[in-house]
Amino acid sequence: MAKQRKTSAKDFHNIQFFQDQKNARSIEDIFPTVKLITINLKTTPEAPWMGEAKKNREVYRAHEKAFFRIRCRYECIAGGIDLGQIVGSLVSNRTMEISGVEYCRGWRDEDRMNVSHCFLQHDYTVVVEYY
Ligand SMILES: [Zn+2]
Repeated sequence: MAKQRKTSAKDFHNIQFFQDQKNARSIEDIFPTVKLITINLKTTPEAPWMGEAKKNREVYRAHEKAFFRIRCRYECIAGGIDLGQIVGSLVSNRTMEISGVEYCRGWRDEDRMNVSHCFLQHDYTVVVEYY
């Protein structure tokens, strides 16, 4: 008999994430006028002792998934940010760039579920290139 392991809250959210990503439609399908989407991110922990700020860039080409949930760089549960609505309104207004701040709403760990949020700060700039 197969050995069974209890699905942790983190596993559960990871499975959900990859399922949603797999089920997402492509950018060219949803936003046919879009050539390229670039998301520049700077992530800053809530307190300096929690680590350094980091920058990274995600590039989405037209044939890729229109899935703009950014995973948290910490091992938090149900974390990350979702820029899907921001990208959607940007494209529907044919705007080229928008910047803002979002905080990770994940839970720090299994013991602090519903108690302590991650709050990793995400400074983002979304840049859209159109055809
Ligand atoms: Zn987080």
